[in-house]
Amino acid sequence: MKNEMILKAGRDKSLRRHDLWVFSGAVAKEPEQCFNGDVIDIMSADGQFLARAGWSPTSQIRARVWTFDRNEAVDSGFFRRRIADAVNLRRVTGVSQTCTAYRLIAAEGDDLSGIITDIYNDYAVVQFLSAGAERRRDMFIEALLAELPDLRGIYERDDVAVRAKEGLEERTGVLYGDAPPELVEFHERELVFAVDLKNGHKTGFYFDQRENRRLVGQYAAGRSVLNLFSYTGGFGVAAAAGGAAFVENVDSSAAVLELAAKNFALNNIAGNRWHNTEANVFELLRKLEKENAKFDLIVLDPPKLVESQSHMMKGCRAYKEMALRAFRLLNKNGLLFNFSCSGLVDAELFAKITFDASHDAGVSGAILRRLAQDSDHPVRLNHPESAYLKGLMTVRI
Ligand code: SAH
Repeated sequence: MKNEMILKAGRDKSLRRHDLWVFSGAVAKEPEQCFNGDVIDIMSADGQFLARAGWSPTSQIRARVWTFDRNEAVDSGFFRRRIADAVNLRRVTGVSQTCTAYRLIAAEGDDLSGIITDIYNDYAVVQFLSAGAERRRDMFIEALLAELPDLRGIYERDDVAVRAKEGLEERTGVLYGDAPPELVEFHERELVFAVDLKNGHKTGFYFDQRENRRLVGQYAAGRSVLNLFSYTGGFGVAAAAGGAAFVENVDSSAAVLELAAKNFALNNIAGNRWHNTEANVFELLRKLEKENAKFDLIVLDPPKLVESQSHMMKGCRAYKEMALRAFRLLNKNGLLFNFSCSGLVDAELFAKITFDASHDAGVSGAILRRLAQDSDHPVRLNHPESAYLKGLMTVRI
């Protein structure tokens, strides 16, 4: 058959264990007369059906599985079933009852490789990150509208560099209904946040930190808080709402700090309880150390520093240096919440980096909690790669 990909002998084990990705090195024969993103069947060397997948001929991840069921077509019914499962899961975890914005489809985490969908009130923001997902875009949008008929608009944020690996161009725009307004205000439990869906990072907001924001809020009462890499103020607002004495937000982008200011106002936090500093965190940490500044709670949530194996050494050194300086700025009994969203840095390595940082800073500390991405970014048991965010809540003793 023309749309069949045949694996090398002995390379079928991972698909039999329901891995979702097939790497180019496992392929004996590519499908014929197929186009980027076509649905293909993956066969073992001895001719057994293994999975149905989207084909990515330009990528190292050569195929991404849609289904392991040979009788399941990748049609609108398929997408409606997957979306309905995802809607149901958000009800089970409660996020869709307590928050008006959340991630509805987290790609592999919701068994829809390459597809992201975030809900912001009655708008959806979508991304199609693989050739297979791109190919099924219109069918997916139709299925999304069938499952969520009250959506007012669907906006595409495919201005992401990873699409190049899949041979796809960047693209943004309205796919359905109304364009979202300049700012959308949503509720996260008792907090309110304004987001810029068209220009913000990712699709506008870091939902993955929701549970960690709650935790920071819970421990913030009476504390002075340093919120490093604040973006639009998520952790800072949670801390202030939790009774922090004072919050200092630091980010290198004036535009995101402007939105952070708006978010503090939206949550009725008095202007004398917070301050924004536009600065490079690496430089500011050195300056604060020289000034002998001290804080009771520090959040350290940098952007992804390890994009690939070649960035490993440099990225780990940066994580360590920042944590080291943060430890020195902490008062006794002060709390550090530090994070890495680099998938390649696993939880054990991150704990080791954090220990090395405390050791070199000359402070002793203890891990109070291990942190991860919130439940609207589920980690499929058969796809542990989707556990990208890790963090530690550490106390200086
Ligand atoms: N903590 C945020 C998300 C952080 S995203 C939240 O929970 O919403 C990373 C942020 O770091 C971005 O806002 C980006 O502008 C900022 N940034 C990147 N490099 C920086 C640097 N060297 N110094 C200060 N900010 C930086």
